[in-house]
Amino acid sequence: MRSNRSSKQSSLDELSRTVLTSKAITITQPRLSLLAILLKEKRPLTVEQISRLSKGKIALSSLYRIIKDLKDSGIISEFQTPENTKVIELTEHQDDHHHHIFCRECGTITDFEIGATLERDLETEIRRVERQYSVSVTSHSLELQSLCLNCATGKAQL
Ligand SMILES: [Zn+2]
Ligand SMILES: [Zn+2]
Repeated sequence: MRSNRSSKQSSLDELSRTVLTSKAITITQPRLSLLAILLKEKRPLTVEQISRLSKGKIALSSLYRIIKDLKDSGIISEFQTPENTKVIELTEHQDDHHHHIFCRECGTITDFEIGATLERDLETEIRRVERQYSVSVTSHSLELQSLCLNCATGKAQL
């Protein structure tokens, strides 16, 4: 059991190193820890969630700087929850455009994509809105508020 867990951890570490090397940015322990958390969880995380999941490995005071560094190198991207909380996600292995589902109880965030037809219709509608309101729309986001399965069934989370 124990060796299993540590070998899983070391492959996350390897993967994190590969990501940093591919972007030619310096490998530091806090950067590796942050990437390992994002790779392991496979979902967008708030700064608070990252801090909790790092179990003391990343000081909250340095977390914002690490996030900024990785964001500047294009490894991670950032968006806001409906409550304007900052959320971090990996840019890698991700289609450029997707949307988010938020659990209103525990704050878990899930990525999802809508069908190509709907996405296209939405773009057409946005062009119409641009003409009607004389604006230039730069992006759109679609947010779904939900209760995740764990919260709906009353199971503890995070
Ligand atoms: Zn939930
Ligand atoms: Zn996302």
